Amino acid sequence: MLSINLVKNIYFFNIGGYGNDDNYFQWTSKFYNKNPHFQIKITRNPPHKNIFYTINNPDITIVYYAKDDTVFTIAGHPNLQSQLLEAMLEFLVDEFYEMYDSSLLTTCYGDTCDVFDGFSMVVLDLLNNFDEKNLIKITRVNCKGCDKKTQEVIIKKSLISNSNSSTTPLVFIHSGHALLIYIDKEFKVRGSQLVDVSY
Ligand SMILES: [Zn+2]
Repeated sequence: MLSINLVKNIYFFNIGGYGNDDNYFQWTSKFYNKNPHFQIKITRNPPHKNIFYTINNPDITIVYYAKDDTVFTIAGHPNLQSQLLEAMLEFLVDEFYEMYDSSLLTTCYGDTCDVFDGFSMVVLDLLNNFDEKNLIKITRVNCKGCDKKTQEVIIKKSLISNSNSSTTPLVFIHSGHALLIYIDKEFKVRGSQLVDVSY
C-alpha cells in the first residue's frame, strides 16, 4: 500500500496541444497555490512522442508524455518517485481515450474548453482510490550509497509486464546518487550497483 497522501501531494494534471498553448483539460489541487501555467508550457514540446519525460525541480516533479498531437502532464511533490507519476499518467491517458473520442480534441483551442470537464471525476477517483487500481509495486533494496540503508522503490507494473527480458533495469536516483537495479517478473530486486550519472 502506498503511504503517501496523493490528494495532498499531486499538484496538477493537464491535457493540452502538442507544440502550442491550447488547454483541453486542467485540474489543479486546492492544496497547490501556484499558477502552473509556466510549468505546463515547458512540457508542450517533447522531442519524441510516446516517451515519458521527467523534470525534477526542488519544489516540484513533473512527468509528461505526448501521444499524437496531445500532451499529458502530471506534477506533484518533489519527493514523489517518477515511476509513481508515470503509472498515474499512463492510467489517466488510457482512461481519457476510453471516455472520449479523440476527434473531440479538435473542437478545443485556446485557454478554455469545457468538453472534458467530467474528467475531473476520473482524476479525483485515482487520487482517492489509488491502491485499488493496482498500478504499482513497492520493492525494497539495500543501497550501498546510503550506507546499506533499505530504500523503498516504486515500480510501475507496466514497466515489468511490457519488458521482454526476465530482469528489467531501472535507475533509482535519490539523495544525490544513482542505483541501477534489476527487477524480476515478481518485482524482486535481483541485483544492484551504484552507477555514475551526468546531468
Ligand atoms: Zn542510496
